[in-house]
Amino acid sequence: MVGGGFGGLSAARALARAGGSVTLIDRNNFHLFQPLSYQVATGALSPGEIAVPLRRVLAPFPRARVLLAEVSGFDLHERLVHCRPMAPAAEPFSEPYDVLVVAGGSSYSYFGHEHWRPYALEVKSLQSALRVRSRLLAAFEAAEIAREHAEQRRLLTFAVIGAGPTGVEMAGQIAELAHEVLPGELRRARSRQADVVLVESAARVLPAFPPPLSLHAERSLQALGVRLATQHTVVEIARGLLRLRQRDGTEQTLEAETIIWAAGVSASPLAGALAAAAGGELDRSGRLAVEADLTLPGHPEVFAIGDMVRLRSTSGGTATPLPGLAPVAMQEGRYVAALIAARSSGRGQPATFRYRDKGTLATIGRARAVAQLGRLRLWGFPAWAIWLTVHIFYLIGFENRLIVLTRWAHSFFTRGRGARLITEEAGGPREGPVARPPHDSADRR
Ligand SMILES: Cc1cc2nc3c(=O)[nH]c(=O)nc-3n(C[C@H](O)[C@H](O)[C@H](O)COP(=O)(O)OP(=O)(O)OC[C@H]3O[C@@H](n4cnc5c(N)ncnc54)[C@H](O)[C@@H]3O)c2cc1C
Repeated sequence: MVGGGFGGLSAARALARAGGSVTLIDRNNFHLFQPLSYQVATGALSPGEIAVPLRRVLAPFPRARVLLAEVSGFDLHERLVHCRPMAPAAEPFSEPYDVLVVAGGSSYSYFGHEHWRPYALEVKSLQSALRVRSRLLAAFEAAEIAREHAEQRRLLTFAVIGAGPTGVEMAGQIAELAHEVLPGELRRARSRQADVVLVESAARVLPAFPPPLSLHAERSLQALGVRLATQHTVVEIARGLLRLRQRDGTEQTLEAETIIWAAGVSASPLAGALAAAAGGELDRSGRLAVEADLTLPGHPEVFAIGDMVRLRSTSGGTATPLPGLAPVAMQEGRYVAALIAARSSGRGQPATFRYRDKGTLATIGRARAVAQLGRLRLWGFPAWAIWLTVHIFYLIGFENRLIVLTRWAHSFFTRGRGARLITEEAGGPREGPVARPPHDSADRR
């Protein structure tokens, strides 16, 4: 198994439970519950509450082992996975396999503008969520020191790019932090006046949800003091500066100390490595086309699952992506484990993979969320209660569930955020001065 995320870990656990001999390779020694990484980025939760060591998860299965290494390539002919160990002084090695499952996930894509990455941080990994937390909190600290009003405004302007669930959740959390939590603690910085801007090129937030739920989400965001910039496309990002273009071509420049990126994603480079090894097909987002049983075309012993693949409905048919969601990856992982177990015990192969959509949820802040569950649409407190239950249920580890539940209950009643620690280098790239907008283009409230 390559990747101990939602897909790889589900497959590994199911196979290990069925008595299989499993080697799980990941470049991190932990499984990360990505849906809550934005809560680490905003100081609501601590890293240990949303991540669990892979070794601990697989400890009950004596035939399962974990290797801490980055996979650099595959030799499908010799059935080898090429690895670079993450531990210092260890030599690169190749791991043999009978059956290979690759679940490398995805990463944020900057649409070909890689130079934006250092200025617009994302929350995909635990490391990047911690960087966001430090930069976010450092902006409030700098505002507390700043004497000039204009400087305070720049420091207290936060831009979130992309109004999908992650962007909406981030913007809502930053607004809560600035407008509700910090005003009682900061003395000079006027965090209640912080400008939290959510930028989206589509006409509404949560474009994948039905329009009435987008409307509820927009009202909730506005109630929290988030400024919506829908139908605005990002054309440039520099240090402390964001240039936006509206549909009519008008450009605006926003001075913002903190810029968060929650826009497009692209598949793990492991999809490209498999495509190169097997002559597979990638789409524009780098996702690999796999057969309806999640195998690589021409390689029934190699499976690829999760965010990095597109699925063919029939052998050789058109490949379509499933939503980039944890339940998709988990269902695929469990399906692959059942298929491998069935094959090795000589039972018939299960029917081709079918995703069972149990619904989608997005939370906006304290007691605010939207939910689409089949034909049922919910918003406000009922949607938030479901969001909370689902996230507690899917968190790995009883201890984490208990701690997160206690923390959320505490935060709900006290509005506290216990994990507001600046632990990383918060400044970001410091070469050169803060970019200044052209005189005639400032977009201030
Ligand atoms: C901020 C955020 C919020 C989200 N919120 C939700 C949500 O609310 N609900 C929801 O359903 N989904 C959500 N998602 C999406 C969900 O997390 C993904 O769909 C899911 O993680 C995909 O599972 P996966 O197994 O394909 O990849 P991942 O879970 O990303 O796992 C990939 C694993 O592969 C490892 N890996 C990658 N490359 C290598 C390599 N070369 N060598 C070794 N190891 C490697 C990584 O370390 C990682 O452990 C969110 C995602 C993000 C980023």
